[in-house]
Amino acid sequence: MPLQDVVTQQDIFVAQARIRGLVRHTPLIPSEVLPAVAGVDVRLKLETLQPTGSFKVRGAANRILNLSDEARARGVVTVSTGNHGRAVAYVAREIGLKATICVSERVPPNKIHALKQSGAELVIHGQSQDEAETRALELVEQHGFTMIHPFDDPDIITGQGTIGIELLQDFPQLDTVIVPLSGGGLISGIAIALKAANPAIRVIGVSMDAGCVMYHSLRAGKPVQLPEAETLADSLNGGIGLANRYTYRFVENFVDEVVLVSEAEIEGAMARVILAHHMIVEGAGAVPVAGLLSGRVQNMGQHIALILSGGNVDTQTALRISEKFGGG
Ligand SMILES: *Cc1c(COP(=O)(O)O)cnc(C)c1O
Repeated sequence: MPLQDVVTQQDIFVAQARIRGLVRHTPLIPSEVLPAVAGVDVRLKLETLQPTGSFKVRGAANRILNLSDEARARGVVTVSTGNHGRAVAYVAREIGLKATICVSERVPPNKIHALKQSGAELVIHGQSQDEAETRALELVEQHGFTMIHPFDDPDIITGQGTIGIELLQDFPQLDTVIVPLSGGGLISGIAIALKAANPAIRVIGVSMDAGCVMYHSLRAGKPVQLPEAETLADSLNGGIGLANRYTYRFVENFVDEVVLVSEAEIEGAMARVILAHHMIVEGAGAVPVAGLLSGRVQNMGQHIALILSGGNVDTQTALRISEKFGGG
């Protein structure tokens, strides 16, 4: 199938209506995070305020609501660093179907805790996202569960793309969007929605320099694997899959730039959001701020939206960072 037919802007409009009721149209607020750059209009898209604390609920809702009655009756399984698993558990509970979540042993305790509260069955297996995924695929074989992939799926990409539609509605002057990048479902959906309206809107991905698999895949010209590293942006960990079907090609075709940021820059950005806005974002959610502040974005416009993708960080980390940067 040609790439432009896999997910269309029309599909994303349909999804917006489908997922209403499970998903919030999130606020877009003006930001002072960049006082040094006069005349630039920067706004923050607060996906931190979604049910379960991240945008992942958009894709999960769209994918699960699209399942047949037979598939719903058998239940769903997924593999997740945390936020996607929480989103799948939430949607499954809201519409009354069985969910099993596979996570690796690297997932932080606060996220394990939240998953345990969610009502889903939790399976902790392996040292990486890829090992947890192998376990999930076994469960698909054994129980006939439907795998809800975290990013490389047209229904997931379509659901995440509803952020792009909200941006078009709330911020018609938008010329640049800066988006956290891991598997690429989020940025692909947003890019499809925005570029269909105006191909000149620039779509910029930001990731941590500690092992961004998509960045290295783009440089290699094909999907590659990398070892996972410790990072404050733990929600950006994980591969894109050597057999990646969709997001690699979408990112290759629709993303204008990918910028990498250091751990110190991510920490500084989290502190900036806490101190300037009195809001907590997780490391992954702060990377667009870090990217903007780094000065590494080549072609920045005048009307910029930053996607603050999630807020699920443990309180100790948030406190440590705000104290370190003088917030107290
Ligand atoms: C999953 C996630 C991302 C990255 O989304 P992809 O679709 O994998 O690129 C960014 N931020 C947060 C908070 C996430 O949970």
